[in-house]
Amino acid sequence: MDTFVQLVYFLTALVFILGLRRMSAPGTARSGIVWAGLAMAAATLVTFLTPDMQNFGLMLVAIVLGTVVAWVAAKRVAMTDMPQMVAVYNGMGGGAAGSIAAVELLRGEFESTGLMALAVLGALIGAVSFAGSLMAFAKLQGLISSRPLIFPAQRPFNLAVLLVAVGVGVWLLRDDAAAFILLFFVAALAFGVLVTLPIGGGDMPVVISLFNALTGLAVGFEGFAIGNAALIVAGTVVGAAGTLLTVLMARAMNRSIASVVLGGFGVEQAGGEVKGSLKPIEVEDAAVLLGYASKVIFVPGYGMAVAQAQHKLRELSDLLESKGVEVKYAIHPVAGRMPGHMNVLLAEAGVAYEKLYDLEEINPEFPTADVAVVIGANDVVNPAAHRQGSPLYGMPILDVDKAQNAIVIKRGQGKGFAGVENELFYAENTRMLYGDAQNVLGKLVQALKRL
Ligand code: NDP
Repeated sequence: MDTFVQLVYFLTALVFILGLRRMSAPGTARSGIVWAGLAMAAATLVTFLTPDMQNFGLMLVAIVLGTVVAWVAAKRVAMTDMPQMVAVYNGMGGGAAGSIAAVELLRGEFESTGLMALAVLGALIGAVSFAGSLMAFAKLQGLISSRPLIFPAQRPFNLAVLLVAVGVGVWLLRDDAAAFILLFFVAALAFGVLVTLPIGGGDMPVVISLFNALTGLAVGFEGFAIGNAALIVAGTVVGAAGTLLTVLMARAMNRSIASVVLGGFGVEQAGGEVKGSLKPIEVEDAAVLLGYASKVIFVPGYGMAVAQAQHKLRELSDLLESKGVEVKYAIHPVAGRMPGHMNVLLAEAGVAYEKLYDLEEINPEFPTADVAVVIGANDVVNPAAHRQGSPLYGMPILDVDKAQNAIVIKRGQGKGFAGVENELFYAENTRMLYGDAQNVLGKLVQALKRL
């Protein structure tokens, strides 16, 4: 029976990898998720057949509870709340790894000190990831302030707490009394909370991705500690994929991972007054500008997601194309609130993937665009990112300011995620088209039809 269980673990690990592979292209991504989910279900079920397994009742209760809560939450979550959801799921993985370690440490039956050390290391990483992810959730959900929380001597204090966790963790290898286990977990959880406090602003997605990678690592270590191949492979795959994603996101935002983890981003306010005035435009005039353009670039952002305006945007772009206008979409790597946020929404609305262009591809094209239309984007088009001292400094932006004309659709004077004023909105060739993105795009479609 054990051989059978191990064989199923091995097969599920293979399907995880194949599923991940399928997730790398939009056309197969959905099926990739289903494959990986089915493999996870198989791995969970086959665990019941493990020789000497006990506590079936408790396992069933946990599975039913987990399934119901996750199902209902995933059905209900708004697309814009996805990052918090991901943060919670990451956290659960880290928490699960930490819990496995806690049980094993309390049992104290490790085959070797090496395996015990791996369990302790996994517990440390898992607990930090658990507590940190829950903090990230609380920040993104608005339960606590999303701005960086800074206090005096923060870094030395955080380092001291980490040293306590590591020190007690090493001590556990010699003396695993329950009191030390408890102290170890308290210190590790406290460090997870503390390390996330000073992180805010645009660094949030990077740190969530980093916690995801850490969770993978923790799960992998616990897999070694309890001899479970599925955990080892799944953990390693998540750890590797998560690390790559973290590095790519940090690079896209021109941030080093060290500076993200040390935190403090977004504390300073953008220096300098913004010159010029905001110049509104009416829907009819905007429609004329668009209808007689030869090239239009759409720049979607978080506001498009909130307004669920992707369908109306597609309608508008179809209409423009039927009038012979060349239409492209500029996708910033951190537009919206999760990696790939805009891609997912536009794909849902049936926008062809070939029309979506990455930052490097589209930026040289802005000067040749007659109109760039910003739909609920702010930080990703903010030229303040070029200025030292701005919380956005260093983040590559979409060069909407270089287009012949810019139309910005947003509801009012609301700032972007990083809370920085946007001088693009005050520029000579920018016009503000106020209103909810879905509503405004609907009116633009009607106005264009009347042209
Ligand atoms: P921003 O959050 O910077 O700006 C969104 C703008 O949309 C606001 O200025 C708001 O202005 C407008 N808006 C809000 N609701 C509506 C609506 N219903 N209709 C029209 N407009 C609306 O968005 P960006 O996409 O430009 O930037 C994303 C930011 O989020 C970056 O700072 C990024 O670092 C961060 N982030 C990204 C994550 C990712 O992985 N993609 C994850 C977490 C954070 P107004 O109120 O006036 O309408």
